Amino acid sequence: MDDASIAWTRATTGDDDGRRARTGDDGRRPWETADDGRRRARVVDARAIAPALVDAHGRGHNYLRISLTERCNLRCAYCMPAEGVDLTPDGRLLTASEVERLVHIFARAGVDKVRLTGGEPTVRRDLEDIVRRVSAAPGVRDVSVTTNGVALERRLEGLKANGLTRLNLSLDTLVPAKFEFMTRRKGQERVMRSIDRAVELGFDSVKVNVVVMRGQNDDEILDFVELTKTKPINVRFIEYMPFDGNKWSERKMVSYAEMRARIDEKYILRRADDPRQEVAKNFYVDGHVGTVSFITSMTNHFCSGCNRLRIMADGNLKVCLFGNAEVSLRDAMREGATDDEILKIIGDAVQRKKAKHAGMHELADLDNRAMIKIGG
Ligand code: SAM
Repeated sequence: MDDASIAWTRATTGDDDGRRARTGDDGRRPWETADDGRRRARVVDARAIAPALVDAHGRGHNYLRISLTERCNLRCAYCMPAEGVDLTPDGRLLTASEVERLVHIFARAGVDKVRLTGGEPTVRRDLEDIVRRVSAAPGVRDVSVTTNGVALERRLEGLKANGLTRLNLSLDTLVPAKFEFMTRRKGQERVMRSIDRAVELGFDSVKVNVVVMRGQNDDEILDFVELTKTKPINVRFIEYMPFDGNKWSERKMVSYAEMRARIDEKYILRRADDPRQEVAKNFYVDGHVGTVSFITSMTNHFCSGCNRLRIMADGNLKVCLFGNAEVSLRDAMREGATDDEILKIIGDAVQRKKAKHAGMHELADLDNRAMIKIGG
């Protein structure tokens, strides 16, 4: 093992990408069985990350996010530009086999967590097959999906059977009519059913992503906290971020400090113990079975612990959510590159990763993809 590998080893907490929730004496979350708790303890692992995935700032990358499609069945204005996006022709999107090959290459280099996103991943009919292939890759211990949940409920059992371990569902409002206004589609009740079914099926975690926007859903912050009283979910309030075509403004963004102030008027939020490389700030309310977190990319970035790499549906690798540098792994694969050659391309891109992304105001002016083409 060389210095770069030794410099960074996987966090030994064995925890997930988010959110260590409040735990009982035996380390279990309120909704975990004793078996879940023991299994998490067993994934404690200090296997080193290959040098290719350790950047010039000493950060190892063990978490890969893959967007499976640019299409979505919703039209949220903060994610998709009003004029839509130019869709990459199907033949230039990654196939299930190409996704599988890339996951094997990354897993061999130390990636153990894979998140499938979109667009809307449930738009892909082969999602279950992709989950199965990804979860079968040696070294991968955690396969999750980020979805709007509209067309999810009936697929949950199949996804779980194929190896899906965690779920993030996006839901910005609890009011059906407002959902229709914000997403330009119906479906709020279907998302709620998906959340309940996911909890019933006992996924390792069920997180609900809420992008908070002034004048749209900031009046529902307390209602979302209240949801955690009876539902064993992790509600994650996300600061509204600027991407191409989403008409972001600082005024529309509700900062972490403001969200906290509003919640503190009604609830006592207690800080949970955050695992290493945590991106969220995690809390719980006494007596609630679920937990509450904040993703503060705009007012309090967490670049120093960044362990994430992203592959877009067209096969481009993006090393920073807010950086526009990309390199095509699809082209390399289709031109016949070997796995080692592809890992070299990945390593070169990782080496170019900056120490941190630009500040809030510069980001608003940066040319980047629309979020719908990145996947979060
Ligand atoms: N369609 C899936 C979904 O809705 O979860 C996956 C893709 S979506 C781009 C992934 C996540 O990014 C969602 O939780 C969404 O709310 C979040 N997101 C999209 N645009 C955002 C923005 N401008 N600021 C913050 N989060 C955003």
